[in-house]
Amino acid sequence: MIRVTVWNEFYHETVNEEVRKIYPEGIHGAIKAFLSEEEDFTVRAVTMSDPEFGLSEEILNSTDVLIWWAHVKHGEVPDAVAARVKERVLKGMGFIGLHSAHLCKPFTMLMGTSCGLRWRDNDRERIWNVNPSHPIAKGIGDYFELDHEEMYGEYFDIPVPEDIIFLGWFKGGEVFRSGCTFRRGYGKIFYFQPGHEEHPTYYNPNVQKIIKNAVRWTAPVNTRAAIDSPWAESPEKLLAEK
Ligand code: ZN
Repeated sequence: MIRVTVWNEFYHETVNEEVRKIYPEGIHGAIKAFLSEEEDFTVRAVTMSDPEFGLSEEILNSTDVLIWWAHVKHGEVPDAVAARVKERVLKGMGFIGLHSAHLCKPFTMLMGTSCGLRWRDNDRERIWNVNPSHPIAKGIGDYFELDHEEMYGEYFDIPVPEDIIFLGWFKGGEVFRSGCTFRRGYGKIFYFQPGHEEHPTYYNPNVQKIIKNAVRWTAPVNTRAAIDSPWAESPEKLLAEK
């Protein structure tokens, strides 16, 4: 079984009636619902208001793949909690950053760049499958369209990805690396751009299929109980000893 934890800041759904109508159980609830259709997944959802921001050692240590949705509350996640997530990824936990999670602390810590991008409101998006033999693209055609999605455009300030799986094109002319993979330590990372809270993106069958594929791809193959390199312990100490 792949143990999936869906993390959501859970803010827009509590303050915006339009968003609540689209996601009455929260975005995390909608994602949990479609992932729970898979017999090889066990899925739980946590939010920022849970103890330890929903990211206790106990939860992280029993998570194979962490899915992250956040938008306006990035700054409220303590650095120490974000660092705990990063450490788990380095030891093998999969991480899937959705939509505005491009600016969440664990993702920017793992990337090491600003992760900034160009954006504007609602547009029509065509998502091209530019890596059809990749496991995350399994069952996805040449392209699919979302009638309404927030425009995210290049330049997207990320390190060069291991693979680009999807390329988004917007009616306004912008393009975006909408689906990218990275590896850090023993962990695998997938970033996927669609999922603005004002649109029903997470009910789209292609979007659901991609996230399911990404769970299977980011699930750990080998894990490491501890980072045992002396350099990981304290580079300053080692330098002092020289
Ligand atoms: Zn958005």
